[in-house]
Amino acid sequence: MAVPKRKTSKARQRSRSANWRLEVPNLSACPRCKELRPPHFVCPNCGYYRGRDVLELGKKKKKKTKE
Ligand SMILES: [Zn+2]
Repeated sequence: MAVPKRKTSKARQRSRSANWRLEVPNLSACPRCKELRPPHFVCPNCGYYRGRDVLELGKKKKKKTKE
């Protein structure tokens, strides 16, 4: 089993801890319903992405998609 050869020094431990932080949630408003969602994600509220409904919430499924 792989075992560290040397004890991690305080400086190394602290410099590692200095870079560790909680990520700020990156949110932007949906262009259609203004709900906050991460960029490049389908809107969880209205299922909107790149000009069309991707999730088709509360609608019948259509086979044709308009560009
Ligand atoms: Zn939306």
